[in-house]
Amino acid sequence: MSKRPTMKKCSCCGGYAGRWVQWPNRDTGWGVCMPCIHWLKGRHTSDEEIESNYGTQGVHYGTDQEFNVAEDARVEAMLRG
Ligand SMILES: [Zn+2]
Repeated sequence: MSKRPTMKKCSCCGGYAGRWVQWPNRDTGWGVCMPCIHWLKGRHTSDEEIESNYGTQGVHYGTDQEFNVAEDARVEAMLRG
């Protein structure tokens, strides 16, 4: 299996999930986006469960830093109209 990061869709909400290495426990092309990671954590999903379903943060799915940058860009674009 290729270790090259590819575009992923979120298996949770169907949104864009970024470019990451494929997690073998997921179907090819599917990952998870940060808003869904936050949602899962809000539902008290354990880190172990998230790791088993979605892999390692920063390798197989996004980081909070990247999420915040994306959020900032989104809010900025919204404010600009
Ligand atoms: Zn999602």
